[in-house]
Amino acid sequence: MHKTVDFSVVIPVYNEEEVICQTYCRLKQVMNAAPGSYELIFVDDGSTDASREILRGLAEQDGDVRLLVFSRNFGHQAAISAGMDYAEGSAIVVIDADLQDPPEVVLEMIKKWKEGYDVVYGKRIKREGETFFKKATAAVFYRLLRKMAGYDLPPDVGDFRLIDRKVCDALKGFREKSRYLRGLISWMGFRQGEVEYVRERRQAGVTKYTLKKMLKLAFDAIASFSYKPLQAASYLGVLFCFAGLVFLGVLINLRFFAGVAVGGWVYLGAINLFFNGILLIALGIMGEYIGRIYKEAKDRPLYIVAEKVGFSRAAVNRGEEHRAVPGERRGYSRVK
Ligand code: UDP
Ligand code: MG
Repeated sequence: MHKTVDFSVVIPVYNEEEVICQTYCRLKQVMNAAPGSYELIFVDDGSTDASREILRGLAEQDGDVRLLVFSRNFGHQAAISAGMDYAEGSAIVVIDADLQDPPEVVLEMIKKWKEGYDVVYGKRIKREGETFFKKATAAVFYRLLRKMAGYDLPPDVGDFRLIDRKVCDALKGFREKSRYLRGLISWMGFRQGEVEYVRERRQAGVTKYTLKKMLKLAFDAIASFSYKPLQAASYLGVLFCFAGLVFLGVLINLRFFAGVAVGGWVYLGAINLFFNGILLIALGIMGEYIGRIYKEAKDRPLYIVAEKVGFSRAAVNRGEEHRAVPGERRGYSRVK
């Protein structure tokens, strides 16, 4: 019989062969000191290095290790979602594979959870060994998002957090494709607390968040919490139309009342360029939203699992609960 699980630790992995064994050992050490049983769910997000083989080996020799292998790279947020779908614990912890989030903090999170918090997020009070560019863009982004969402999203908080089973179950009902999990979890409410920590430098390897992935996550976050960019396009439009009218008025005045002849075509060219730019920006912003609507309309699965190792039957059933049932909306577990 499969024993019950108190804590599920979800670890998204994408090409982390240099660090994954170290991560496993540190997590084991920490979780052995945790007040209850645990499982380590590694989600291999389509790695192309040896991560998968290493993880498969770990899952085969250690009964507390589970492994989900994606059929290709679906991204960090999809990997976390999959881990949560298959988790069996009464509390679920999400942690990066590169040891930037110190595993020891998990014990503090568990302590807070025992005090009655349903969500305990890790707040980065310092970030070690990250580039100035990353720190600066992160600082601006978190503050901008908070302003745009008009909603209390805590800044400097990543996906390193613990959530209670009931939060995890509620989150499973959200199958939106362009997901920004940390935002969704704060939006959900429940009793939320924080644990402060110093985000350490990566233990090995390089970041797997390319600039492109970072930008996508940033716009997913903004687009899923705010319509302001769409509105900003029209505000800008109004502003520049008004400016254009005033400018035209000045030119007419100069021509007819001051008798100054202005080389109009030069100005026209410049104005034209400027307004076309504004129009394109506005169109681009709409495109970003429409693209996301299109993605929701297609309603493809968030991820595809190619292989599962070490899960109980119950965990597999749980993980597959949200699968499409003909005639039923995908993404909601069936209520009987
Ligand atoms: N990751 C993933 N899929 C991706 C990119 C990253 O599962 O497409 C994992 C990665 O292995 C790590 C975590 O997500 O465990 C955070 O990524 P990373 O450390 O590269 O991001 P950073 O800390 O630099 O923001
Ligand atoms: Mg990292």
